[in-house]
Amino acid sequence: MATGAGWAPARPIERHGAPRGASPRSKSVAPGPRRPSPSPARSRPAADHSGSADSCRVRVAVRPRPKNSEDLAHGADFNSCVELQPESKRLKLKKNNWSCESYKFDEVFSENASQKRVYEAVAKPVVESVLEGYNGTVMAYGQTGTGKTYTVGRLGKDDPSERGIMVRALEHILSSLSFETDWVAISYLQLYLESVHDLLAPEKTNIPIVEDAKTGEVSLPGAAIVEVKDLEHVFQLLQIGEANRHAANTKMNTESSRSHAILIIHLQRSTRRKEESSSSLYNDRHDTFPDDLPLVLKSKLLIVDLAGSERIDKSGSEGHMIEEAKFINLSLTSLGKCINALAENSPHIPTRDSKLTRILRDSFGGTARTSLVVTIGPSARHYSETSSTVMFGQRAMKVVNTMKLKEEVDYEILYKKMEREVDQLTSEMERQQKVIRSEKTQMEKRLKESERSFHDLRMTSNMQIENLEKEKRQLESAVKKLMQDLDKERDQNNLLSKQVTELEKLLNENKQQQLENLSKTKFLTDTTKEHEKEMGELLRKLEEERCCSSSMKDRMSVLQQQLCDAQSSAQESMAREMEKKLTKVTEEFTIQVQSLKEKVSGLISEKELIYDELKSTQEKVQQEMSQRQDLEDQIVRLKQSVSDNCAEESKTSCSMVRSGSGLGNTAFVSKSGKLREALSGQRGTISKIFEEVGLPNVLALLKSEDLDVQIHAVKVVANLAAEDVNQERIVEEGGLDALLSLLETSENTTIHRVTAGAVANLAMNGSNQGVIMNKGGARLLANVASKTDDPQTLRMVAGAIANLCGNEKLHLMLKQDGGIKALLGMFRSGHTDVIAQIARGIANFAKCESRMICQGHRKGRSLLIEDGVLTWMVAHSTMFSASTRRHIELAFCHLAQNEDNTCDIIASGGIKELLRITRESPREDTRNLAKKALDSNPAFLREIQ
Ligand code: ADP
Ligand code: MG
Repeated sequence: MATGAGWAPARPIERHGAPRGASPRSKSVAPGPRRPSPSPARSRPAADHSGSADSCRVRVAVRPRPKNSEDLAHGADFNSCVELQPESKRLKLKKNNWSCESYKFDEVFSENASQKRVYEAVAKPVVESVLEGYNGTVMAYGQTGTGKTYTVGRLGKDDPSERGIMVRALEHILSSLSFETDWVAISYLQLYLESVHDLLAPEKTNIPIVEDAKTGEVSLPGAAIVEVKDLEHVFQLLQIGEANRHAANTKMNTESSRSHAILIIHLQRSTRRKEESSSSLYNDRHDTFPDDLPLVLKSKLLIVDLAGSERIDKSGSEGHMIEEAKFINLSLTSLGKCINALAENSPHIPTRDSKLTRILRDSFGGTARTSLVVTIGPSARHYSETSSTVMFGQRAMKVVNTMKLKEEVDYEILYKKMEREVDQLTSEMERQQKVIRSEKTQMEKRLKESERSFHDLRMTSNMQIENLEKEKRQLESAVKKLMQDLDKERDQNNLLSKQVTELEKLLNENKQQQLENLSKTKFLTDTTKEHEKEMGELLRKLEEERCCSSSMKDRMSVLQQQLCDAQSSAQESMAREMEKKLTKVTEEFTIQVQSLKEKVSGLISEKELIYDELKSTQEKVQQEMSQRQDLEDQIVRLKQSVSDNCAEESKTSCSMVRSGSGLGNTAFVSKSGKLREALSGQRGTISKIFEEVGLPNVLALLKSEDLDVQIHAVKVVANLAAEDVNQERIVEEGGLDALLSLLETSENTTIHRVTAGAVANLAMNGSNQGVIMNKGGARLLANVASKTDDPQTLRMVAGAIANLCGNEKLHLMLKQDGGIKALLGMFRSGHTDVIAQIARGIANFAKCESRMICQGHRKGRSLLIEDGVLTWMVAHSTMFSASTRRHIELAFCHLAQNEDNTCDIIASGGIKELLRITRESPREDTRNLAKKALDSNPAFLREIQ
């Protein structure tokens, strides 16, 4: 022993094997007066289970074994040796009859004391103390065969009343623990011949004993520590231990053992400050630990079944048995020495002398609660052993313990708890972080979405604004354009209206002119009549003059007779005078006759001139009639165009209104486009284009690749060609060539129609007619006529040919080029206008031909007859309209003037026609012509008769 303070050092000792770095904290139980607590603040008195003041002392109880058969066999002198006084807890040991000593113990049991009673008196306080965290020791000391094993190690598996301290202590502990927080395990060892063996693992022998230098805690590393959960397991383990226990038979008792059996019960209990604070045991503790720390109370209970305490010489051992006894005594002797030292408060406690004392170092005396049960036998034969046992017990009673509570912060639990809390907090934090992350992600997502949608919105709104602005600009420009178009339309309409007015004016003028022409014709007719009358008068005068002349001749012959008579009758002088007078009268008369003749010839030439003039006027009137027809058609078209334009204008206005409200923009645009397109054809009025573009450029457009352009160009040229002033120029500039080329090459009906119209207009000019014919115009026109049934085209072609018919120099060529046949062929259309042109052409042709024959420039049958015109005229004479019929009648009459046509006329039945004309023709000149033809032609007259 290092100090004089019993087996325990003055400082608190720490238990060896404090698991997992637990920080031990020892508390000393109130020490005895000789051993003040080194740490009074931490020490506390042990629970006072017995109520005595020296509760910290080693408690010693005496248990006598009941007499067995052997005892009874050896006599009944035992009573004189020991006298038990359980009520006063005293024992009288009678050495002999005169020497008797009384010893007081903590408990003196009767022989019949039950195992339960022994347990409760000896072991229970220690077990309770161990349950509270203190180390404890229960030892059985006594001579072999006195019932140590019975008291301590009896299993009593089948009979609970038999159970010894080991079983009961474990039963008690197991019933007091919570297996959720507490832990109990056992090691079962045997100390034999100063060697520690493991009774639970018999292969482990010579287990070392280790003392912690700091804490003084004793441990046996290598010894099995088996956790126990229930009593069944306890029985099992103790049985194993028992089986392994080496028991040597001795002479004294076959069941006794020379070994020390040591059951170590390891106990760990978890507790909390709050619980502890409620416990009266710890009320006075001044803790250095903060509240609510998880604490673990570690304690151990040693239950020691010591080897027999009898002397060797009495044991009768031999050989190694002696050696064995020596070792057994060594440990027991050492135990006794230590107890003596402790009892005497010796500064040196020889705990290191034996293994037993080393093992018991922290459990016997020192810091533990210790109970000792000394067993004694009843036989007086073993008086000395009984006496030494009693004395041992007495000495042990003087040993004071300094109990020390060993509680440690259960850093494992704390760690686990902290770990759990950290884990919980970590997982909570992770959950929170996850939530925050997901929220953040969502927020970011939403933010992004918001940004995106904002961006989109901005883009969309920008685009919308742009679109709106664009639309606005477009609308503005469209409106502007429309306004311009409208202005143009208006201008156009105004222009067209103007044109219409002009055309109407022109028409009126034409009418006027026609009227004038008619009146002129009438005047000319009247003049002719007057002239004829005058001529008649002159002829009558001439006749009268002739009569006068003959009377004068008669008178002259009378006068000559008278002269002869006078000559003869001497009135010669008078006769001469008379002759002179006569000569003079004759001369005067001759002069007068001459002048009259001159006058007549003058009148005749004047008449011829008037006739010519009349004819040309009539032609002009006819041309003007056709022109008037054209103009009327044009006016109708222009009026239609104006009304269309007006309608479009109103539509456009509507569109503008609609587009102004932002609706129907596309329709508007397309409509506006269509309108422009439609108007573009009409926009360029002839004169304007002509003025702006110039003839060469207009003519160049005739060769354009674009059909529309070509058509419009032809229209322009056709319109230009309608004016006399342009006709020659167009031909000179190559317009005719281009037009004829179009007639020849183009397949387009409109081109054909308009081109034919243009050629017809150009053919109005006399000098152009020859050029047209020379360039094969008639042939081309005939070709066009043969290919189409379009009445308008046919009308134009017929008009063109009709104009060419008015040039007698071209008649033969016209016929040869198929012009006549073509003209006649167009009758198939049945269209009034076409037929009118055919009739006009034939009339022109016949009239000119007739003139040529009259003038002696031509002879022979009419060219018209060869192509069947005459037959056609006779066949359809009654089917034509009035105006057409007039042309046909005129043509017929002219043909009839030619004697060479007589046979054909007769053959075709033309006499009837001539007769009809004489009767029915509305024109007097025609009627006259017909009469003249009939009258002048004897063949006709014959036919009539
Ligand atoms: P020891 O262990 O001290 O050598 P034992 O416990 O083996 O002694 O006891 C010797 C014998 O005495 C055993 O047969 C045991 O049953 C008996 N015995 C001991 N004490 C008692 C008792 N109190 N009551 C009944 N029998 C006892
Ligand atoms: Mg025994």
